[in-house]
Amino acid sequence: MNYSAHLNHPLFKTIGKIADQEEKSAFAIGGFVRDLLLQRRCKDIDIVVEGSGIELAQKASDELKAGRVTVFKNFGTAMFRYRDWEVEFVGARKESYERGSRNPIVEDGTIEDDQNRRDFTINALAISLNTESFGELIDPFNGIRDLENECIRTPLDPDITFSDDPLRMLRAIRFATQLNFRIEDSNIESIRKNASRIDIISQERIHAELHKIIMSHKPSIGFKLLEKCDLLERIFPELSNLKGVEWKDGIGHKDNFYHTLEVLDNVAKVSDNLWLRWSAILHDIAKPATKRFQKNHGWTFHGHEDRGARMVPKIFKRFKLPLDNKMKFVQKMVLLHLRPIALTKNQITDSAVRRLLFDAGDDIDDLMILCRADITSKNEARVKRYLANYDVVLRKLHEVEEKDHLRNFQPPISGEEIMETFGIPPSKPIGDLKNAIKEAILDGKIPNETIAAKAYMMELAEAMGLKPIQS
Ligand code: ATP
Repeated sequence: MNYSAHLNHPLFKTIGKIADQEEKSAFAIGGFVRDLLLQRRCKDIDIVVEGSGIELAQKASDELKAGRVTVFKNFGTAMFRYRDWEVEFVGARKESYERGSRNPIVEDGTIEDDQNRRDFTINALAISLNTESFGELIDPFNGIRDLENECIRTPLDPDITFSDDPLRMLRAIRFATQLNFRIEDSNIESIRKNASRIDIISQERIHAELHKIIMSHKPSIGFKLLEKCDLLERIFPELSNLKGVEWKDGIGHKDNFYHTLEVLDNVAKVSDNLWLRWSAILHDIAKPATKRFQKNHGWTFHGHEDRGARMVPKIFKRFKLPLDNKMKFVQKMVLLHLRPIALTKNQITDSAVRRLLFDAGDDIDDLMILCRADITSKNEARVKRYLANYDVVLRKLHEVEEKDHLRNFQPPISGEEIMETFGIPPSKPIGDLKNAIKEAILDGKIPNETIAAKAYMMELAEAMGLKPIQS
């Protein structure tokens, strides 16, 4: 079959024409071809050239009046931007591996060698660009059939492919998740067999693949596959630990692994925020550590939100994820994830709502998304009741926020002002006064306004024996 109609942009014909002039063979290859045939958007175009790709890139860029060519001599690659695309040229390669490293020994090769080194049949498709054979598909492993059957499969023996570069195990699961494809049975078996090889992969690469799973439309697919293939316990033991149901006196608790995945999918339906999705993954992470069985209460997980928040930095550190405000955001979400619904257990007071607004600040909307996503009960009446409660909290939050503006609470009187008013240096009474003003605002004793706060400060100061200096 000829795929020239898929390559209707002049860019491809131009590259083919220049390849003809240079007497080289050039092909579009890999993920670009896969996505082209699946009609997915793809911004990276990979071109493989039999021979050096660098000169071809230079000439193609001149002819197309594209951007500057960036050359990576060590890798034998050259790249330029053209419109929305990043076009990368590389010479065809032959690779062989040594155990203990995922970095292969590389030699020049043919298009066939280059296809042999690809990870999956659907990633090994190539389309010829030279004029005479323009649009011809080169598909030695029947990748087209796998695309149609929605199947991930290695071109060669999966044991060798996965053992050579164990990152491919995660890539298989990532593609299965992104494309909603299945992984062929022998490949699943082989990943299980080679699961321990994942230990040679750097945490940066692991988290990059995990992020692609997390950012897909239904991330639970990937986490279930990681679990099925015995990779989850190796790369993310805390999440794997959530699995299972324990029974006592005829009472079981829910399986927190599957619950967590439902929450994650729920968040993914409404938010593209990677760190909110991480919050969903980690919201119940301390449930195993806090699980107790009490005669009259059944299973409890008291304090799992606090303990969970304290586990976040360790997990982020191990994955080599950022430890800045992104991590702090996740910590905050884990810590506060029970608060909105807990509010409804008693009568909802303005003061409790103010405290939640104060603690969550600008992240209150994300917290509410997480909280809503956390409602996964199969009991319809219960879900209805929770959602109704949730709506009450939401309404109350808006009312209080409109009145008191606590989302980004700034104390109406600063420490400096207090020091100036009473002519005293930084000391405990300053902190006490500041805190008392904040508490009075959160309790609704005084409004969140400077005049009221000043009057209240004067009252408190007098009781503390502080006198304002004359100005
Ligand atoms: P995405 O762009 O979504 O990350 P992709 O497969 O299109 O996925 P790359 O990861 O840049 O993009 O890889 C480009 C191509 O290089 C792949 O389609 C595949 O043919 C090949 N490839 C990438 N990584 C490997 C690997 N670890 N082993 C074998 N081939 C690989």
